[in-house]
Amino acid sequence: MAEPIRILFATSEVFPLAKTGGLADVAASLPAALAREGADVHLIMPGYQEALDKAEALQDGPALANIPGDHGTARLLRGRVPGSGLPVWFLDIPAFYRDGGGLYTNADGSERPDNPVRFAALCHATTALALGRAGSVPIPDIVHTNDWHTGLVPMMMEIEAGPRRPASLFTIHNMAFQGHCGWDWFPRLGLPGDPRVTQAMEFYGVVNFLKPALCFADAITTVSPTYAREIQTPEYGCGLEGVIATRADSLFGILNGIDTAFWDPARSPWLRAAYSAHDISGKRVCKEDVQQELGLKVDPDAPLLAFIGRLTWQKMADVLARTLPAILDREPDRQCIVLGEGDRDIEDALRALDGSFPGRLAIQIGYSERAAHRALAAADILVHGSRYEPCGLTQLYAMRFGTVPLVRPVGGLADTVTDTTEATIADGTATGFYFRGLTDDAELEGIDRAVGVFRHHIAWRRLQLAAMAADFGWARSARAYMEIYACVLRRRLQALAPDADLAGAGEVLQPAEKRSVLSASV
Ligand code: ADP
Repeated sequence: MAEPIRILFATSEVFPLAKTGGLADVAASLPAALAREGADVHLIMPGYQEALDKAEALQDGPALANIPGDHGTARLLRGRVPGSGLPVWFLDIPAFYRDGGGLYTNADGSERPDNPVRFAALCHATTALALGRAGSVPIPDIVHTNDWHTGLVPMMMEIEAGPRRPASLFTIHNMAFQGHCGWDWFPRLGLPGDPRVTQAMEFYGVVNFLKPALCFADAITTVSPTYAREIQTPEYGCGLEGVIATRADSLFGILNGIDTAFWDPARSPWLRAAYSAHDISGKRVCKEDVQQELGLKVDPDAPLLAFIGRLTWQKMADVLARTLPAILDREPDRQCIVLGEGDRDIEDALRALDGSFPGRLAIQIGYSERAAHRALAAADILVHGSRYEPCGLTQLYAMRFGTVPLVRPVGGLADTVTDTTEATIADGTATGFYFRGLTDDAELEGIDRAVGVFRHHIAWRRLQLAAMAADFGWARSARAYMEIYACVLRRRLQALAPDADLAGAGEVLQPAEKRSVLSASV
């Protein structure tokens, strides 16, 4: 039997060990899906206190030398991810990851100033594992890195090991976060002064952690086909559109999937009643239950809107906070739940509204998986504005819960939600609503349209059922990743032994085939 492909998956967060957003969900569910495809996957992440507390089968691992920073000894711990049981390495540096703050922020919400060194350390540890410098740990075939926190790894592997390195794949989950810092940090990152390094990291006078990954990774993926096209434009490329465009041949957009077992209204532990597309009656019970808990008027026919997500400019939470009074004033029975945390100004604006619409508005500032599940089960419409959206998971969770998303059709929102028109209602493909502008009026009109259809019970039920039937499981996307792994691995082997016969070493995808096989590349 052929040996399984060995993958080292490096990330700054993994659900349920540590999570601030969608990356954690993907870093949990994609490796599990890859394992189901036959891959041997190991993860590596920082040893945050909360992650070590939740990890299963935690035990000591090798000490690591030459990890930059003023922190004493660095070592690896090994454990397993609860749920999937996948093996995970934790980079244990108490001074970096166990000092009482958040994953990226201090206890007061400000960004940690030493993030460049904290995540350079993660890149060094990943590279040590990748190149067999961490005790007798087997060397991976592929190192799959994610976002700027692990962005130095493809470059470090190339600089340190040249053609003898494993293949590298880098996934962009959000182009807007690039890990910038001043050049005064550079001497503390433990990198050689090689001009290839300084050129790759230079970005308009500052250091950039994401750019070297775009320069050095064998393949680059992002999390939806539309976002893969968008990041090649100045509007969405965040200053790296030129660099990414030079890698267009190696860039793929692969839609994220979701953990369909965890995000399932038939199995969620937090709902008063279970329901599914076969019998959706429990959704009404959940609505009543949540209305009661949150002090909303118990009314099954009231259109209940929900916003769930980071309260940030990206998510148009500023527009929502500003328009909420107008949204609710439009019709006396409208209700809204807002669940999120983020920018202090937006949180304050929302807090100021609390109490001004008794029985109709519930503001929940904070982070809670339970509250998210319950709001998704109770709501009729998910309001999901985004100025840009690499993939977006909340709209996928909403559809699974029979909650119809209203989205701005950018990035993955455009790829996963089908607008309601006469034609899409007639052929049964409608799964949500689009609003196109960035103005308050555009959002208001979108909400009016969605609420208008909500009041037509038969049309609404069709929409809900179409949304619930959409397949956002990982199987298809995991297979697309496996094909890219095989492709880059073969290229690696060819670089190492140009004359070797590599017939059995994985499929080669030609550019044209690549497009049809993945149906997702740019
Ligand atoms: P992003 O990664 O940009 O924040 P995604 O839609 O990809 O957005 O993923 C967001 C994830 O975080 C989803 O799982 C969503 O349900 C969850 N989430 C965001 N804010 C909260 C919150 N306040 N409480 C519970 N879950 C939240």
